[in-house]
Amino acid sequence: AIRPLVAGNWKMNGLSGSLSELAALRKRVDAAPVPQADAMMCPPATLLTGARDVLEGSSILLGAQDCHSLPSGAHTGDISAEMLADAGATAVIVGHSERRIDHGETDALVHAKALAAYRAGLTAIICVGETEAQYRDGKTLDVLRSQLEGSVPEGARAVNTVVAYEPVWAIGTGLTPTPPEVAQVHGLIRSVLGQRLGDSEAGATRILYGGSVKPANAAELLFVPDVNGALVGGASLKADDFYEILAVYA
Ligand code: 13P
Repeated sequence: AIRPLVAGNWKMNGLSGSLSELAALRKRVDAAPVPQADAMMCPPATLLTGARDVLEGSSILLGAQDCHSLPSGAHTGDISAEMLADAGATAVIVGHSERRIDHGETDALVHAKALAAYRAGLTAIICVGETEAQYRDGKTLDVLRSQLEGSVPEGARAVNTVVAYEPVWAIGTGLTPTPPEVAQVHGLIRSVLGQRLGDSEAGATRILYGGSVKPANAAELLFVPDVNGALVGGASLKADDFYEILAVYA
C-alpha cells in the first residue's frame, strides 16, 4: 500500500510570526502522531530556515514552493533547488497552477524544474490541473494527459516524485469535484504514469488531490480510490485545520 502524504502549501502567506502556527502543529503531531501518513509543510522561501528550526526532530517534512531549473548563476530573484536543499527542504512543488498562470510556466519549464529537484536530491511535487473552461468543455482528461506527458520526466521514480491533481477552479473557491470525478482523474493520472514510467513505479507513486480541502470534506476526498493524500492551501495556515485533515489517516 502507498503511504499517503498530506502537504501544506502556504503560498505567499506568512510573516515570521506564522512559524508559531507551525510550532503549534508540531506540538499536536508530537502529542498524537498520525502513523499512517507523512506530513509536510511548504512555507515561503524566506521562512524555510526558520521552519527547519521549528521542525527539528519532528516527523513533519519541509518542502518549498518553486525552484529555478539551474543550480546557480545570474538569475536575480530566483532560488535554485540546491539552495532549497541547503535551507532544509527535502521536496519542492513545481508547476503549481499559480506559477503556470502568474508566471507563464510551460510544461517544458516544469519538466526542467522537476529535473532540477532530482539533481539536488529533492522530491518533485509536480502539479497538474484543468481550468474551469476546460472542465466545462469536457477537456479535463485530455488536458491532464498532455500536462503529464510534458511535465513528468522519463526518469521520475515513485521515491522522488509526487503528482498533485489540482483543478484550477477548485483552488481557493470552496468548490470541489465529486468523488467519482476525482476517482476518474486519479485513475487516468496513474495510467498515464504507467505508460511513461512502467506500472510498478506508477503503482507506487503518490497522487495527491488539491483544491479546497478542508477538515469537513477531507475524508470524502481522501478515501477516493487512487488518492494518496492532499495538497492543502488555505487550511494549511491553521495548525488545527491541517492536523484534522492529516488525522483522516489516524
Ligand atoms: P486551497 O486549499 O486554498 O484551495 O489551495 C489549494 C492549492 O492550491 C494547494 O497547492
